Amino acid sequence: MKTILVPAGHGRAFRIGKGGRFRIITPKGQQSADFFAFCADDISEGLSPHHTWMPTRSLHPRPGDAFLSRKRRPMVDFIEDGADGVHDLIIAPCDPIRYEQFGVPGHRSCVGNLEEAMAALGHAVPQFPLAVNFFTTTTVEKGFMFSTPKTPVAKPGGYVLLEARMDLICAVSSCPYDLEGPGWAINAPGGPTEIVVELL
Ligand SMILES: [Zn+2]
Repeated sequence: MKTILVPAGHGRAFRIGKGGRFRIITPKGQQSADFFAFCADDISEGLSPHHTWMPTRSLHPRPGDAFLSRKRRPMVDFIEDGADGVHDLIIAPCDPIRYEQFGVPGHRSCVGNLEEAMAALGHAVPQFPLAVNFFTTTTVEKGFMFSTPKTPVAKPGGYVLLEARMDLICAVSSCPYDLEGPGWAINAPGGPTEIVVELL
């Protein structure tokens, strides 16, 4: 087994072959892990939460679901959920534009983390990549989405077990979002914490 430590607010990328299993863990809990995946033979084909939840009819991924690419091919199977369903398929990954709009230009972002991590493997990132947000608490009621301290959060040691359905290049970002917004509590109040990836 190989263990990859994703430092708080940073990202790491890794290759994994078809049939390979891996676990993503939030050791301290309540830390969003933005998960990106790209087909190893065509980086332009990336994971798409929007294509994923259409056949499952669920805004929250569940064990047994397959995460699909933009071309609707199964990329990753969701094998086991050790985080009580606290996962999000709605929110676009945070990026430098978002933080500029928040008035904090230069703030670290999940898309920035992805670019750094992929560059370390010698890859550029396709425009506007999308992520599955593990350990991210969102709730939809009557068409409105919210995320508050009252909605369930991922417990310490929460994890997901996944299996690659094709050769992949994956990346995980410990979401660096640490701003305060009314009715919004994506990460723990104390700030971002590390994520661990275990290649089994
Ligand atoms: Zn983020």
